[in-house]
Order: sequence, then structure tokens, then C-alpha cells
Amino acid sequence: MLSADSVVSFKNVSKTYDGKTFVVRDLNLELKKGEFLTLLGPSGSGKTTTLMLIAGFEHPTTGVIQMGGKVINDLPPSRRNIGIVFQNYALFPHMTIAENVAFPLQVRRLSKPEIQERVSAALVKVQLTGFAERKPSQLSGGQQQRVALARALVFNPSLVLMDEPLGALDRRLREVMQLEIRSLHAALGTTFVYVTHDQSEALTMSDRVAVFHEGAIQQLATPTDIYENPRNSFVARFVGESNQFPAILRGTEDGCAIVETPDGLLKGRNFLADEAAGDQVLVSIRPENISTDGAAGDDNCFGVKVIDRIFHGDHVQLSLRTAAGIKVISKSSAELAPQQDKDVLIRMRKEKCIIFPAK
Ligand code: ADP
Ligand code: MG
Repeated sequence: MLSADSVVSFKNVSKTYDGKTFVVRDLNLELKKGEFLTLLGPSGSGKTTTLMLIAGFEHPTTGVIQMGGKVINDLPPSRRNIGIVFQNYALFPHMTIAENVAFPLQVRRLSKPEIQERVSAALVKVQLTGFAERKPSQLSGGQQQRVALARALVFNPSLVLMDEPLGALDRRLREVMQLEIRSLHAALGTTFVYVTHDQSEALTMSDRVAVFHEGAIQQLATPTDIYENPRNSFVARFVGESNQFPAILRGTEDGCAIVETPDGLLKGRNFLADEAAGDQVLVSIRPENISTDGAAGDDNCFGVKVIDRIFHGDHVQLSLRTAAGIKVISKSSAELAPQQDKDVLIRMRKEKCIIFPAK
């Protein structure tokens, strides 16, 4: 059943270009009206292909894509009312900024006065008033990105797609543009689908994040949920940072898994499938959740040596080695972080340790 606020839905959609390798595998996805959804994943995980399936530049090999309740598998892009910002902006270099932004309206055969009015309004939205008569080459990268954005929005699309739109900008400008795109989304109320391989960008911008790996969605949830409750070890590693090391399952008790690590018993949240006592499992814990205030005899406390201590300004990163030789990274404030070569006890609180299947 489709929910009433569904804009686009994918049902068991797969895509292969060569008839052999599936680059999108059995995708089920529902875009909700007005949301900011980010497709996040490493290079080659199928993000752009998924975006092109929504836009209509690619078609599913199997499965069904619906928009407004109608199957649109083979509907051409021009009939989908979708605005797109491509990875490389794709501005027309010989046209002025105003002509670039006017292009989608000309294709739609709007009247001249209406085109002028809409183009001015779109340039106001992206803070480019006064640049209308320049050529793209006379603008900075960030400004060109805003032109691409204005061109995608000018015909009031029901959906806006963006493929790594900030990839070419330096870090500072990228962070400014992230906030601008976010507030633009809030002001317009239009559904946005955003592609990035940058996990911090995905976390800061999105209502929901779909984590892609090898053509399949690993998890689709809010940024907080993805970060706090990663569904598998790939998501835990790709979103944020995670220490992961092997252990043997010894037992379970009310939501907890008890595992044997080379340094002794450890308790963690049970994210296992059907593993039984004696099976190999994986312990996963984020660096900021390892503290150096362990106490001998307490659960989940282990002795370590500080191998390296790196100052990062807002935190200190410690490289630690346990007695059994397991290496973990921790993060803490400079005041709390012990010096290099010190022997200390770390605490890995059981609410912050996740026990995953080994594979
Ligand atoms: P991402 O955007 O996550 O980097 P893509 O969707 O671009 O991933 O690509 C997924 C896989 O599909 C990659 O292995 C890529 O080489 C392949 N691919 C993408 N487009 C084509 C195409 N037009 N023809 C053949 N293979 C393609
Ligand atoms: Mg891509």
C-alpha cells in the first residue's frame, strides 16, 4: 500500500547496464512529500543510477517506479516535472546567467514577461540579483552552483534532485552552501533528493538518509537513528567512525549479548541475527564512547597503553592498545586525555557497544 504523502515509490527495482552486473539491487523506497532525503554511499554504490531512475534518464531492468500513483517506468524526463542539479553544474557557457535560468521556462513555452518575472524571483532566492547579465565563467564556483540551483527551481518542480552538488567547492564554501540549500528546502517545502558520499553532509542536511552499498540500501532512517542504531557493521563504519574487533558469542540476556574478547568478557547491545553461543561476532564502538575512566573489576573495563596522542583542537584522539594487542581509537577532551605511554583503564559502556554478526 502506498501512503498518501508518497511522491515517488520504488518497488523491487533492479538495474543492470550490461545484463550481468546489477548496479541497483531490489530497491524499495518511498519519497515522502516535502522531505529532504539523502542517498549516501561510497563511489560506485548506485546513487547516481538511482537518481537517474527517478529523473527518467535511466529505466529499471525489473521492478516498478510510481509517481502520483501512476507507473512511470518509461515516462520521459521532460514529462516528470523534476528539477535536477547535476554533479558538474552543466551550465551553458555561452548564455548569460538569466538565459541559463530562463532555459527550462523557454522549453515550456512561457510568455516573455512571465519568464522575466520568474527568473528574477529565482535569482533572488539564491542571492544572485545583480549577476543576471554575466556569463558563467565570470562567476565563482559557489555562485555557479547557485545558478544551477535557480535553474532547477525556476519552473516550480514537484521534486528536486541534486547529485553531489557541492563536490567541487572547498570546505568552508561547502558548509555555507549546505546551510543555504537546507534553508531553501525549508522555505520552498519541495521534496529534495540529494546525493553525496560525504557522511557529515548527509547527517547535517537530511530528514532521512538512505545508506547505499553495492547497489542496495543498507539502512533508511533519520540521521540520529542511523548514527545511534546502525543496522549493520558497514553502516557503523561508513557513517561516523567505529572501532570494530572480533569476539566469540557466549550468551545473551535481556537485549544484551555477552561476548568473549581476547581481553576478557564484554557486554553490548544485541544486534545479532541468528548467531548461537560459540559463533564469531563483531564488536563495534565509536571513538567518542570510549572513556579513560575505567575501574578495575567493573564491567567492560580493560587495561590499555596509550600508543599515540594527537591534538585536534576541539578534541584529542588517542591510539590505544589492549593487553591482548587489540588497537582502538578514542576521542576525548584535552583535559581528560592521558599522556602518551601511560597505562590506563578504558571503559566501553555496554549501551554504546554494538554486537554485530561477523559477516
Ligand atoms: P555512484 O553514483 O554511487 O558512484 P553509479 O550509480 O554512478 O554509482 O554507478 C554504479 C555502478 O554502475 C558503477 O560500477 C558504474 O561503473 C556503473 N555504471 C554507471 N553508469 C553506467 C553506464 N551508463 N553504463 C555502464 N555502467 C555504468
Ligand atoms: Mg555518482
